Amino acid sequence: MPEPVDGNSLAGPLSELFSADLRTATARCLGCGDVSELARATVYPDPTGYVVRCGQCDDVLMVIVEEPNSICLELRGMSWLKVPR
Ligand SMILES: [Zn+2]
Repeated sequence: MPEPVDGNSLAGPLSELFSADLRTATARCLGCGDVSELARATVYPDPTGYVVRCGQCDDVLMVIVEEPNSICLELRGMSWLKVPR
């Protein structure tokens, strides 16, 4: 088993992940198991950000909250998110 390293080692893969065009990323819904591109999800904008719902079962896939100095991303409704390289 490899020796563990600290979270700084995530800088490369996470910067690649979050700089990608996420509209073409695919996600698996925890509610129904549907696998679809995020572009096919239903998005409800509101003054604090966005609620993204599954296009098949309408469960919440993710919530994005925009604050003056940060953006909070909550992904509780998906089992995974795959971003094409
Ligand atoms: Zn679903």
